[in-house]
Amino acid sequence: METYANYIGGAWVPARSGRTFANENPATGEVLGFFPDSGRDDVAAAANAAAEALPRWRALPAPRRAEILFRAASLIEQRKEELARDLTLEMGKVIAEARGDVQEAIDMTYYMAGEGRRQFGLTTPSEMPHKFAMAIRQPKGVVGLITPWNFPMAIPSWKLMPALVTGNTVVFKPSEYAPLSAFNLVRILIEAGLPPGVLNLVFGRGPEAGEAIVDDPRITFISFTGSNTVGKQVAARAGALGKGVALEMGGKNAVIVLDDADLSLALDSVVWSAFGTSGQRCTAASRVIVQRGVLEEFQARLIARARALRLGPGLDPQTDVGPLINAQQLEKVERYMEIAREEGAGIAVGGARATGGDLDRGYYFQPTVLIDGRPEMRVAREEIFGPVTTIIPVDTLDEAIAVNNSVPFGLSSAIFTRDVNKAFTAIEALSTGLVYINHGTIGAEVHLPFGGTYGTGNGHREAGWAALESYTEWKAVYVDYSGRLQRAQIDRD
Ligand code: NAD
Repeated sequence: METYANYIGGAWVPARSGRTFANENPATGEVLGFFPDSGRDDVAAAANAAAEALPRWRALPAPRRAEILFRAASLIEQRKEELARDLTLEMGKVIAEARGDVQEAIDMTYYMAGEGRRQFGLTTPSEMPHKFAMAIRQPKGVVGLITPWNFPMAIPSWKLMPALVTGNTVVFKPSEYAPLSAFNLVRILIEAGLPPGVLNLVFGRGPEAGEAIVDDPRITFISFTGSNTVGKQVAARAGALGKGVALEMGGKNAVIVLDDADLSLALDSVVWSAFGTSGQRCTAASRVIVQRGVLEEFQARLIARARALRLGPGLDPQTDVGPLINAQQLEKVERYMEIAREEGAGIAVGGARATGGDLDRGYYFQPTVLIDGRPEMRVAREEIFGPVTTIIPVDTLDEAIAVNNSVPFGLSSAIFTRDVNKAFTAIEALSTGLVYINHGTIGAEVHLPFGGTYGTGNGHREAGWAALESYTEWKAVYVDYSGRLQRAQIDRD
């Protein structure tokens, strides 16, 4: 059984305490390896190494930094299959989705490598004659990256690649539930030529290693993706220390199905968006807002589709839906079934753990459709993060939009309609950061901004050009070549 190490200042080292934690396969309970259970000393060493490496790394021209990313992207591409298998083993998603997770890291790494020769600044006319005005991007410095387990390759790449190409050095703490993929990704970046100290990997748990990253004075900016509860704690802590923080948190996403929708397409999309990754996506469709004209047919067909899904380990090509990540998550989803009953929602299919045979070894929950949902119910407002979706009937497009916008999150929404006027009305009125027309709530591409409004985030975006805003500061530069004192706002003649 392999024991893995932290990567600090260019060396693989154990946690100073010598403690480790086990990485478990959620489909079988089998231990896959042991990882350092790091604490404050380990984070301090990592932050130190990152601070030391910063001057040389930021001085390296961005196109040269990008060459390392291009090589890394190519290595990830070459090893896609083995990386996907490791990913499925440690977090449970089915192998086709794991390949997608790795592909997203490939796409993001190539995209951000391209930023080595973009990172555009801007020029603008000065209000004075013979004076030049421009704004250029500068790296933030040492950044702390904290990631969840549900996209173990993709999400780290969303943060690492823009941070590195813009000249920051990094302390990275992946989730304790998906450390192997983070190890694989970091090893590839090292192999691609990343100098020592530029990227420091610290494994560990949130309250110890995570909080130490937020607290460390050398780390001046934190990018966090995870739950709302933890995100708010991170923001409060970072705010008290005067640090910047970018938050990507939970969602309560909805698909709207109007009377004129292509119902078969809507069904395929809802099944994929609600039950893909066992519902453990921040963009999962955990609400389906259905116009009453198609309610009966849509509901019956969705229930039949959910019932037909096959559960099993993600490496089995017959599996549609894999396990949940751990016992706590399984218990949480179970608790929501009691809440659903108390609130008067009907459990039309599913509603319990999936058991029998090999399923008993893992954390499986039956794909579940709740019916007779009302917008004010907890199951229709709170993130469940399991294979559960709630159908909410509505009469009109306006009501559908109002229901969509009534939750305290704002990540993703989708609408199925053949009417272009209704589609554009929805684009304008839906309050989420992502909107899909005739497509489910999942499936973002790396070159567009990704993130949410309200409780989902704090105004930052990942991916695309927008990610550069998180990892750079604007520097305004004025070059006065008039040879005389020109006072802005005062000397106007
Ligand atoms: P989590 O909040 O439990 O953990 C996320 C990370 O924070 C982990 O690395 C964890 O170790 C760390 N952490 C925990 N406590 C901490 C603390 N006190 N200080 C600092 N760090 C701490 O979330 P999770 O269960 O890993 O992920 C699932 C959540 O992530 C869901 O809510 C999901 O919606 C959200 N998510 C959001 C997006 C997005 O882009 N909006 C993407 C994926 C997942």
